[in-house]
Amino acid sequence: MLPLIQLAVLLIPTLAHPVDERWFQPIDSTVNSLFVKRAPDPNSGANNAPDFASNYPALGTPPPSSLPSAWTQKLASITLPNVGVSNPNNGYPTYTNNEPGQDSTICSFTYECTTSDDLYNPPANTFALSFDDGPTSSSPQLNTFLAQNNISNKATHFMIGGNILGAPTQMQDAFTAGGHIAVHTWSHPYMTTLSNEGVLGELGWTMQIISDLTGGRVPKYWRPPFGDVDNRVRTIAKQVFGLETVVWNQDTGDWAIGNDPSYTIPSVESTMSGWLTSSNKSTGLLVLEHELNDNTVGVFMAEYPVMQQNGWKVMTVADAFGMSWYQNSEGDTGTVISQAIAGNSTLSMTSSISTSTSSSSITSTSSSSSLSSTGSPSLTSTSTSSISSSPSSRPSTSSDSISSAGKLGVSGIIMMLSILVGIRVGA
Ligand SMILES: [Zn+2]
Repeated sequence: MLPLIQLAVLLIPTLAHPVDERWFQPIDSTVNSLFVKRAPDPNSGANNAPDFASNYPALGTPPPSSLPSAWTQKLASITLPNVGVSNPNNGYPTYTNNEPGQDSTICSFTYECTTSDDLYNPPANTFALSFDDGPTSSSPQLNTFLAQNNISNKATHFMIGGNILGAPTQMQDAFTAGGHIAVHTWSHPYMTTLSNEGVLGELGWTMQIISDLTGGRVPKYWRPPFGDVDNRVRTIAKQVFGLETVVWNQDTGDWAIGNDPSYTIPSVESTMSGWLTSSNKSTGLLVLEHELNDNTVGVFMAEYPVMQQNGWKVMTVADAFGMSWYQNSEGDTGTVISQAIAGNSTLSMTSSISTSTSSSSITSTSSSSSLSSTGSPSLTSTSTSSISSSPSSRPSTSSDSISSAGKLGVSGIIMMLSILVGIRVGA
């Protein structure tokens, strides 16, 4: 039995915006209790774009007042590791009492600590292709190149919610072309510096806007901006939202071109070519790459032929690890099912909803047994944390924070303002 106030919270957005026919998530599913459809489709009317944006928080870390009770209740139900909020310290987070970031309880990737659940080492001969920071004005150029080379469906796009807010149809362009959409937070902050509620809003709202624009697909992967993640943030991502944490095992520094003189287009391409032409492919490559600007996109376009010539099997992050693309769908065109998020073992507000009846709506042919992530909500990695020798380059430094966060903030604002006055940017 749902308390009335919770029921009201669930129903208000639904009543305000009737479920669009493009929304394939069963309305009575446990997934829908965490991610009820919140906005009209931005394609469904000339005046809908401003209304679309009004359904989401503004740019910046979403405030606690923006958080749906389903999310905060789920957060309250999980046990977090004893890791405090970090101090930014110019990109090298410090912790209370100066505990080292590589400490197994904290396990900060900034200090090259990874857990057994982190995804960063693909199998042999595999190049897991991913692009961070979209959508931007350079995304159309990237998407055109991917389409021309028939690899639109081999790229994972870790997208920024605030950028999607300003250019929702650009995100949909990548999706409808067959791209795999994942989470890169709402406002690109140092996640370990945020409160638990801040982490909740950054992840949850980005999942929400992606879900709203992809027919109800719930993202399964996220990448922390600057690689700034620790066990507190990992636990919230996994146990509240069912998200897998993706980092990387190589970083070209493409994000630093134009900001740091030691990173130029030739030098970054040379670095990438060095890895691609190596005879040792026993561990695959998961390179940090960006659709941040024309330089970073240009590096990829120049290096893609080298990938081909050297026999790399290019695929999405999900495919590289043999996992489904979304928590409730195998891919962009597969059936959307009523799967519980993160096992749904403790979310009281959905406990009375029967999942056995929830797959009977639009997508009645689904099989809820086809996905492997159900029923394993616990993050087991905290006890097996280790300092990994695999990430062979240090995660992004503070110059990344200035370059990508600053530019993206401005570009996102420009895109949003452009859309408000009816101008499509860069597409
Ligand atoms: Zn980023």
